[in-house]
Amino acid sequence: MATTATDARRDLLITGLRNIHAVEKQALSIMTPQVERIEHYPEVAERLRAHIEETHGQIARLDEILAGFQESHSTLKDAALSMSGGMAAITHSVAGDEILKNSFANYAFEHFEIAAYKSLLTLADDGGFSSATTLLSQSLGEEERMAAWIDDALPTITRRYATLYAEGGSSAAKV
Ligand code: MG
Ligand code: FE
Repeated sequence: MATTATDARRDLLITGLRNIHAVEKQALSIMTPQVERIEHYPEVAERLRAHIEETHGQIARLDEILAGFQESHSTLKDAALSMSGGMAAITHSVAGDEILKNSFANYAFEHFEIAAYKSLLTLADDGGFSSATTLLSQSLGEEERMAAWIDDALPTITRRYATLYAEGGSSAAKV
């Protein structure tokens, strides 16, 4: 069966949309257990809560774009990545420096999302799928702002961790 360039871009875009849909589900499975445990970093908890809300919106945008292509997300991909997200949160929670490791992981995760949305935007632009472009750009902006927030907050988080550690050791310097 002959595949035109437009069909190929559409197929790649749909695969990419399903992948990022699963990544967004994974994001929820990473951020939700984190936010529930935070005690000493209320500004981090607040920003995570806001980004969890944004992430629900991002998932809704992806569902909307996929529906426009008469497609849907992959339940199997969503489930697989959500499980791995939960595992990462558990791994960090056994370490005294959980807040730092989570911050590093969240910083990396946001940049993964930024790269994925930029790649999807390239496919959408090149394929002329302009309704997808608008929605994906909104999500990209949210990821970039979240990454920038973590970048800005990291020195403050690190100093508070160092203070708590000085006061009571690693066991007292929890999240
Ligand atoms: Mg996201
Ligand atoms: Fe994000």
